Amino acid sequence: MVTSAAAWRLAGRLSCPVLEPGDDGYAADVAGFNQVVEHRPPIVVGVRDAVEVREAVAFGAETGTPIAIQATGHGPSAAAAGAGLLINTRRMAAVAIDPVARVARAEAGTQWHQVVEAAAEHGLAPLNGSSPLVGVVGYTLGGGLALLSRAYGFAADHVTAIDVVTADGRLVNATPEQHTDLFWALRGGKGNFGVVTAIEFGLVPVPRFYGGGLFFPGELTAEVLHAWRLWTASVPEEMSSSLALLRMPDIPPIPEFLRGRLVAHVRIAHLGPVDEAERLVKPLRQTAPTMVDTLAEMPYTRFADIHNDPTFPIPYNERSIMLRELDEKAADDLLSLAGPGSDCTDIVVELRHLGGALSRPPAVPNAVDHRDAAFCLSTLGMPGPSPALVVDGMARWGTGRSYLNFLAGPETAQLAEQGYSPATYARLGEIKRRYDPDNLFRFNHNIPPHAAGS
Ligand SMILES: Cc1cc2nc3c(=O)[nH]c(=O)nc-3n(C[C@H](O)[C@H](O)[C@H](O)COP(=O)(O)OP(=O)(O)OC[C@H]3O[C@@H](n4cnc5c(N)ncnc54)[C@H](O)[C@@H]3O)c2cc1C
Repeated sequence: MVTSAAAWRLAGRLSCPVLEPGDDGYAADVAGFNQVVEHRPPIVVGVRDAVEVREAVAFGAETGTPIAIQATGHGPSAAAAGAGLLINTRRMAAVAIDPVARVARAEAGTQWHQVVEAAAEHGLAPLNGSSPLVGVVGYTLGGGLALLSRAYGFAADHVTAIDVVTADGRLVNATPEQHTDLFWALRGGKGNFGVVTAIEFGLVPVPRFYGGGLFFPGELTAEVLHAWRLWTASVPEEMSSSLALLRMPDIPPIPEFLRGRLVAHVRIAHLGPVDEAERLVKPLRQTAPTMVDTLAEMPYTRFADIHNDPTFPIPYNERSIMLRELDEKAADDLLSLAGPGSDCTDIVVELRHLGGALSRPPAVPNAVDHRDAAFCLSTLGMPGPSPALVVDGMARWGTGRSYLNFLAGPETAQLAEQGYSPATYARLGEIKRRYDPDNLFRFNHNIPPHAAGS
C-alpha cells in the first residue's frame, strides 16, 4: 500500500513494487545477506527492467532523494535509513551466453551460480569468486577476485560493456569505445557512478578443473602457514589458493569438525588435468596430517564446495589489506595476531595468493589498482568493537591499500580512499563530479565528487 505523497507519485510512474515501511514485501526487499547493515528507507523500488531503473533514478534526482542499490546484500556499507530510496535489483536476473564470442550478459540482480551454470553448458566459465550467491554486478564493479584470477586477472579486466543509468536519469552504454571515462571508473569504482542495469564480460574455457580443501587442526597453523606461503612461490598461474584460519561458532549448520575450534583451511582451485594438480598439491598434503581432505577433480559448477561460504544471512564486519609480501616475519606477525593462543575473535582470517595475471595491467585500463600486491588478507568477524585489529596489525606489510570488495559494515562507507592509489582516487572523484555532482549515489563505499587536482 502506498501512502506518502512521494511514494504515490513514484508508484504512478511504475508498475513494479513501490513499497513503504509496513507494506507486504517491504521487509523482504530491504533484507540483505549481511545483517550488520539494515536498510530502512521510506521507499523501496523493486525494479524489473532498465526503464523502471530510469524512472526510479529520475525520481531520486528530481526530489533530491539519495539512492541506495542492493542486489543480494553481500557487501553493504552505509544504510539507507530514515531517508533515501532503495533500488532493489533482485528481480532483474536474466543471463545470456554467446558461446561463439565467449561473452556473457547478465542483468543487475544476477547471482554467480546462474552465470556459472549457463556458461558450463558450453565448457566455459566466468571469473566468479568463492560464493555462488554473490551478485555479479556488485562483485565485478569492485574488481572481482576470482577462483581463476591468477590465470586470468580480475573479473573487471574482462568486462566488455556496461549499461548504466546515471544520476541524470540517462541509460548509457559504456564500452571501450564510448563513454570511456565512465567505463574506466565503473570497473573498480563500485556503485558510485549509477545503477548498472546489465553487464557484459568475457568467459574463459575450463576443460578440466580440480579443487577442494585441506583442513588441518588449529595447533598446526604455524607449520601450515609457513609451508603454504613457501609453496605459493613455486606454483604456476593455473594454481590459485588461499589459506583461511577458521573459528566457527558451535552451531548446527556448521559441520561438526569445524565447530568451536581453530582450523586451518587451505583452499585450492586448479585449471588443468588432475595428475598435474595432484603433483602440485603433494607437498601441501605432506605438511601435516589433515582432518579432512576434499581435493578432487570436479565439474566447475561445483566451485562453491571449495570455500563453503555461508548460504544463510548473518551479521558481520569485513576488513582487508593488500600485502606486498608474506615473508617469514610477516607470517609470524600474522600468527601472533590470529594464530593459536592469540585473542583473535574473527570467524575467518583469510590470505589469498595473488600474482600471475593479477599483477599485469588489463588490455583496457580500469580503476582496479592492486597489481603490486602479492597477497590479500581479509577478516570477517561478528559485530564488535575492533573489527580491524588483525588488518591494522599487519599494516607494515601492506601496500597501503584495502580491497573494497572485502570491506563491509557501516564504518567502511568512508574508507573508499583506501582502495586506490592517489592518482586513481583523484580521477574517480573527478569523473564522479561530472556524472553525479550531487552524490546521489552515496550509500556505498563513497567517492565524493571532487574537482580535478583537488
Ligand atoms: C561469502 C562471501 C564471499 C565473497 N567472495 C568474494 C570473492 O571471492 N571475490 C571477491 O572479489 N569478492 C567476494 N565477496 C565480496 C563481494 O564481491 C562484495 O561484497 C560485493 O560488493 C557484493 O555485491 P552484491 O551485489 O552481491 O552485494 P550488495 O550488498 O547487494 O551490493 C554491494 C554494493 O555493490 C554496488 N552495486 C550492487 N549492484 C549494483 C548495480 N546494479 N549498480 C551499481 N552498483 C551496484 C552497490 O554499491 C552496493 O552497495 C564475497 C562476499 C561474501 C559475503
